[in-house]
Amino acid sequence: MELYELTVHQLVNLLDKGEVSSREIADSILDRIQSVESKVKAFLTLDEDRAREQASQTCRQAGGFLQGIPYGLKDLFCTRGMRTTCASRMLEHFVPPYDATAARKLAQAGGILVGKLNMDEFAMGSSTEHSAFFATHNPWDLERVPGGSSGGSAAAVAADEVPFSLGSDTGGSIRQPASFCGVVGFRPTYGRVSRWGVVAFASSLDQVGVFSKDVRDSALVMNLIAGHDPLDSTSVNLEVPDYTAFLNKGIKGMKIAYPREHFGPGVQNEIKQSVYQALQWFEQNGAVVEEVSLPHSEYALPAYYLVATAEASANLARFDGVRFGLRDEGADNIIELFSRSRANGFGAEVKRRIMLGTYALSSGYYDAYYLKALKVRRLIWEDFQKVFGDYDLIISPTTPTTAFKLGEKLGDPLTEYMTDILTVPVNMAGLPGISIPCGFAGGLPIGMQIIGKAFAEGTILQAAYAFEQSNRPNQKPPLGVN
Ligand code: GLN
Repeated sequence: MELYELTVHQLVNLLDKGEVSSREIADSILDRIQSVESKVKAFLTLDEDRAREQASQTCRQAGGFLQGIPYGLKDLFCTRGMRTTCASRMLEHFVPPYDATAARKLAQAGGILVGKLNMDEFAMGSSTEHSAFFATHNPWDLERVPGGSSGGSAAAVAADEVPFSLGSDTGGSIRQPASFCGVVGFRPTYGRVSRWGVVAFASSLDQVGVFSKDVRDSALVMNLIAGHDPLDSTSVNLEVPDYTAFLNKGIKGMKIAYPREHFGPGVQNEIKQSVYQALQWFEQNGAVVEEVSLPHSEYALPAYYLVATAEASANLARFDGVRFGLRDEGADNIIELFSRSRANGFGAEVKRRIMLGTYALSSGYYDAYYLKALKVRRLIWEDFQKVFGDYDLIISPTTPTTAFKLGEKLGDPLTEYMTDILTVPVNMAGLPGISIPCGFAGGLPIGMQIIGKAFAEGTILQAAYAFEQSNRPNQKPPLGVN
């Protein structure tokens, strides 16, 4: 095995035993990036010099848990001194003067930030094709999308360009690309990880989370990033357990529900079969597995696209060419300055969302659309509450299909929105969820989604880890031997 193939915990172990140096790890990772990045195109910004220099200076004994471990960040985490573009022309040259809290915590733990990862512009999309700069390719099939919006973060981990990365999940943007790329993608409960310094898309839905090669690494990174932050008033002041303590608890007696609505006719057959097999595995290993109903799930997607766009239209008002972002230099007056800067700075999908959201919030339509969506949101939350009265976890496919072809859905936003149908209910209810690999169809990874009660991230990791121990796929993306 090459160093670039290893997980965080394997690398930490080698470092602690003195068997490798952080410089060797950084060199291995940067060589790997050199050899595959032209195919995968996961990075918007790569800082090799900084990574090498930091790796040479690092001293394992003196530092935190991540001392000498490379990682990448979705390009919406503000990073001091490294540009943060949100994959938008609007912020192409924006270099933040501070670090997002989650980024700061990783840096303080000694991690080495290699670069910033591609995404759909302002996290709006499911394919990473809506980046203003270029599309990222799925390491399993370079003709296909990696998913989105955190497609760069997922693809970089799948292609062994970094051992782990952070992303954000507003409607599925961690779990869906994790599923398409065959990696672990974990979205914690709303409020568990600080959103401070993470450029906002829809503030009541956004949550920071982790991409990793295995479940243990998710738990380890969660230990570092979770917790209350006085700078984010929606971050919750609850004790953060040691998430690794859950890993070996097993699944005996656990009560698992699978919602019939998540196995409907729109879900690819091989995906249903894989998840049913996984459910059987849970049952054979001592869990109680039963079918349930989440009757309002069919309304989650339309309601999500009202709430998310409404919040986006408000959040993105700050990009006016004056306070933030690209400034049009040819305008004669302030109105023209705003409108020309926004017209040139935002891409088509972002404009579509701003228009939808502004419409849903406008007087006369507010009650019919936005308020109605909030009521539906409440019903979705109640569906989950009911099931979680009797069960510990809910399991379903993460996505209705495996990764689709680049360009396939570009002309048809609605079919692209449909790829989030199984992930958005979790965001609407503010719950935690993970996607872990559970099989392949036609050489493409399939993801299984495990949803937990609010702030019961440990239970999710417990079940995911148990499953992974006996069902870990050993295929690797066919990127060639380097
Ligand atoms: N794909 C969904 C959307 O376009 C979710 C995006 C996200 O989670 N950031 O809104």
